[in-house]
Amino acid sequence: MTSAVWHPFTQHGLNEPIPLVSHAAGAAIYTQSGERIVDAISSWWVTTHGHCHPRIMAAIAAQSQALDQIIFAGHTHEPAETLARDLVKMMPDPLAHVFFSDSGSTSVEVALKMALGYWANIGMPRHKIIVMQHSYHGDTIGAMSVGARGVFNQSYTPLLFDVATIPFPAAGLEQEALDALDRICQMPDKPAAFIVEPLILGAGGMLMYTPHILKQLREICTRHDVLFIADEIMTGWGRTGTLLACEQADIVPDILCLSKGLTGGAVPLAVTLATPQIFAAHVSTDRAKMFFHSSSYTANPIACAAANANLAIWRDEPVLQRVRTLAGLQQSRLAELKHHVPLRNMRQLGTITAFEIESKTTGYLATIGPQLMAFFKSRHMLLRPLGNTVYVMPPYCISAEDLDAVYHAIHDALVELGIPC
Ligand SMILES: *Cc1c(COP(=O)(O)O)cnc(C)c1O
Repeated sequence: MTSAVWHPFTQHGLNEPIPLVSHAAGAAIYTQSGERIVDAISSWWVTTHGHCHPRIMAAIAAQSQALDQIIFAGHTHEPAETLARDLVKMMPDPLAHVFFSDSGSTSVEVALKMALGYWANIGMPRHKIIVMQHSYHGDTIGAMSVGARGVFNQSYTPLLFDVATIPFPAAGLEQEALDALDRICQMPDKPAAFIVEPLILGAGGMLMYTPHILKQLREICTRHDVLFIADEIMTGWGRTGTLLACEQADIVPDILCLSKGLTGGAVPLAVTLATPQIFAAHVSTDRAKMFFHSSSYTANPIACAAANANLAIWRDEPVLQRVRTLAGLQQSRLAELKHHVPLRNMRQLGTITAFEIESKTTGYLATIGPQLMAFFKSRHMLLRPLGNTVYVMPPYCISAEDLDAVYHAIHDALVELGIPC
């Protein structure tokens, strides 16, 4: 049977089989044909507590009986009011204003527009954005513009706007990155903002840098009055061992993007939080200074209800305890794997582990990727290496048995495919 569906990041010309998924629970997904697959990448980094979490599902069901959708310009509703209030309570001061949207990419677009709008509205227009090498901030044109250039956006590159890029602060190159930021901040063409993924660059290959560097990046921006945007779309909600990755560097951004785990990974929703300073710059009797952004489904009530259930889980249940337990399991399994096969650049941050494998080709289209994915599929594991970077990022509820099976599959893949590491 042919399908009319055009899938994301999928080469339909290769005719690779696409499993039909019928249901999911916890860390497992099930196909129509009865296969149980361990979700070792949290369905592309979104699922935190587990699939079909009963509290989140119940909240969605209840909200769907009351209010499905309402225009959010000039209207409000209880799920959004509750969520905004509780998010502000949960997130660090002075992030006191919550703008809703419907995906991570959109929350980044909103963050950039807030920064540019701030400078325009206070009468000091600035347009330059500083980014970090290898970053990923989403797939819309603006989000791609502030992300790394590569095969995945080469058709659009001429239309992406120019940015100033600092090197990735890899071990040994930290000072170079800090100096570059300092230099760019002092150029006559003053930058509006620096946008960064705190502590770990996800799609760029799970590249990690230290809280100490993150703190210094923040300090340089503060010193030169450049807005600091933290893209915590992947890192937020416990992924890195703390609610936010920024906590580990003891910093607070001017603008914060959250999505993926905001609803526990159940339904799409995103928020961009801003300081009173940025909000105030948009408050005026002049209608031309309002924030000109909206998605049709801004603050969809059902999505907000799911997020409220997620926040309740964070309040009532020992989520960080679970995160620490998973981090410990991940650490021991990775160490054991290294005991059997040599692993290059083995690393961990909170619930995420990663390492590189030898490959004749590197980058996103490294030829080893499809081979590995096919092997993992045959072992009923959802793992999706980023080029020659293998990583494991499971839901927090994964059992020790399932995690063992994940690492056994990786071990067998390396041995059976004869991959020199
Ligand atoms: C996933 C991701 C995005 C984009 O989010 P979408 O919901 O896929 O649009 C942006 N930034 C980071 C760091 C991400 O991991």
